[in-house]
Amino acid sequence: MKNPNENCLEGMRCPQCKSFGPFLISADVLLSVSDDGAVLDDFANMEWEDSNDCRCPACDHEGVVSDFRESPS
Ligand SMILES: [Zn+2]
Repeated sequence: MKNPNENCLEGMRCPQCKSFGPFLISADVLLSVSDDGAVLDDFANMEWEDSNDCRCPACDHEGVVSDFRESPS
């Protein structure tokens, strides 16, 4: 089956249950923090790399982002 992920989750798929996401990725975010609290300033500033933690909520498989990336065929 062709992997439908071609944007944020490009080429990603759960190696255990074959889900195409969504996945829970531990990302570095830039927060605008005032005395009242924190606001996510800019979604475009969220970054993650192959080594960031990634979890599949469908089957609870845990790994890093690169574990969820299918090798290009
Ligand atoms: Zn899964």
